[in-house]
Amino acid sequence: MDNQLDDENGLCKQCRHPFNPHLIIAFDSDDLSKGGFIKCQVENCDCYTTLNFDLARKQKDY
Ligand SMILES: [Zn+2]
Ligand SMILES: [Zn+2]
Repeated sequence: MDNQLDDENGLCKQCRHPFNPHLIIAFDSDDLSKGGFIKCQVENCDCYTTLNFDLARKQKDY
């Protein structure tokens, strides 16, 4: 269970900026299974993380 992108203080694990202003963008908003990426909005920060939305697994847990 260590695939979280923010730590217990709400800070991004990559760049240590507050996770809250990070942008979450889908590669294809019509097909979230293609994944997307998270980008930090702080100026001059090049934090960039790809992610899988993993919708199929969520539905199984339901
Ligand atoms: Zn950052
Ligand atoms: Zn970050």
